[in-house]
Amino acid sequence: MNRSESLFARAQELMPGGVNSPVRAFRGVGGTPVFVERAAGPHIFDADGKRYIDYVLSWGPMILGHAHPAIVEAVTRAAQDGTSFGCPTAKENELAELVIEMVPSIEMVRMVNSGTEATLSAIRLARGATGRPKLLKFEGCYHGHGDSLLVAAGSGVATLGIPGTPGVLPEVAQNTLTAPFNDVAALERVFEVHGADLAAAIIEPVAGNMGCVMPRAGYLERLRELCTKHGAVLIFDEVMTGFRVAAGGAQARFGITPDLTTLGKVIGGGLPVGAYGGRRDLMEHIAPAGPVYQAGTLSGNPLAMSAGLAALRILHGTDGLYEDLDARTRRLFDGLRSAASSEGFATTGHHIGAMFGIFFAEHEVWSYDDAKRADAAMFGRFFHEMLQRGVYLAPSAFEAGFMSTMHSDEVLESTITAARSAFGALRQFVAESG
Ligand SMILES: *Cc1c(COP(=O)(O)O)cnc(C)c1O
Repeated sequence: MNRSESLFARAQELMPGGVNSPVRAFRGVGGTPVFVERAAGPHIFDADGKRYIDYVLSWGPMILGHAHPAIVEAVTRAAQDGTSFGCPTAKENELAELVIEMVPSIEMVRMVNSGTEATLSAIRLARGATGRPKLLKFEGCYHGHGDSLLVAAGSGVATLGIPGTPGVLPEVAQNTLTAPFNDVAALERVFEVHGADLAAAIIEPVAGNMGCVMPRAGYLERLRELCTKHGAVLIFDEVMTGFRVAAGGAQARFGITPDLTTLGKVIGGGLPVGAYGGRRDLMEHIAPAGPVYQAGTLSGNPLAMSAGLAALRILHGTDGLYEDLDARTRRLFDGLRSAASSEGFATTGHHIGAMFGIFFAEHEVWSYDDAKRADAAMFGRFFHEMLQRGVYLAPSAFEAGFMSTMHSDEVLESTITAARSAFGALRQFVAESG
C-alpha cells in the first residue's frame, strides 16, 4: 500500500467517500485518488513524492500555476496584518475596481466565498428583482450545488424540473426548467410557453462541466434577445470561464452583455472567493442598498482578496498573456489528438483560451446528450495510463482540462510524449480484449 492508499483508507472512515468534494474520489475513473502534499508551477507532488504535470489546476483557479511567488507573497503579507476583521477594507475596493474594469458587463459587484454562493445569490437577486418564480438552466451545465440548480437534465424540449438528488424538494425543483444546450428551437419554445414566469436564464457561456463544449454561432445571441424580449435576467455563470477564456471572460470574447455574471475559481488566486455582479440597477436590490438579503461572515476576507488581487493584476497587466495561453492550449489539444489518431483512436472536442476538452467519440459534441454518448470507459483507461506516466488529468470524462502560464513548451512536449505511449498501451489493450 502506498501512502495515498493508506490515507484514502483512513479518510473513508472520517469523511463521506473519503473526500470533501465528490469528483476528487476518482469514482468516475476507478482507483485511489492521489493525495497531494505540495505543488509548484505546473506540477503537483503526491504523498509518496511522485511528480505529476497537472491539468486540473485545483479545478480551474491556478491559471498562473501553483505557488506563484506574487500570490504567496501577497498572502503571507496579508496574514501578518490579521486574517479576518469583519469590517470593510481597502483591498475589497481594489479587487472590486479591478473586476469592474476587466469584466465588461459588471458595474457593481459583491464578493462571496464560493461559486455556489455566487450563483445562489444571483438567482435570488433575479427572483427578487423580477418578482417571478421560474429559472431556466441548460442540460449539462453545472452551477454549484444549490437546490434549484440540482435538477436532472430532462430529455426533449423543456422538461419541468425533477430533483437530481434526494433532499431537494419537488416544489423547489419544479420552478427550474431545463433545455438542451445549443438547441435554438427548444429555447424559443421555452420562452414562448414560460417567458412571462421566467426570473432568469443561467448558462455557462462555454460549458465546462460536461467536458468543454462551445456555444454554436448565434446561440448565446438568441438567448440574449429572448431574455430581453421577455424581461428575464440573463445570468452568465463565468465561475469557470471568467479570467480564463479571456481577461474579460466569455462575454468579452463573444461580445455579449449579460445582466448578471457569477465568478469564482480564478478570481481568488487559489483562495476561496466567489463574486456576482452586473447592472447597477439590479445590484442595488441587494442588502443593505435594497431588500434582497445576502451576507457572509468571511466575505471579502483579506487573505482571499490579497490572493485574488495579486492574480488579477498579473492577468490584467501582462500583454499577450491570453494569446499565449490560447496557443499553448491549442498545441496541447492538437498534440493529444494526433497522438490518439496515430494509434487509431477517434477523438473530438473543443478548446478556447486556457480550457480544453477531448472526447473519445466519432461524433461532434455540442450538447450533454452528445457528451454522454462518448466512450467514458476508454477515457478512464486513458486517464490511468497517463497518471502512471506522471500526467494528472481530471478524473472524469466530463470535466474540462486547464492550462496555466507555467506549462512551458518542454512540459507540453513531455505531456504529448506520455500521451503517445499511453495511447499505444490502449491500442494493445483493445487488440488483446478483441
Ligand atoms: C465550479 C463551478 C461552480 C461552483 O463553484 P464552487 O466554488 O465549487 O462552489 C459554479 N459554476 C460553474 C460554471 C463552475 O464551474
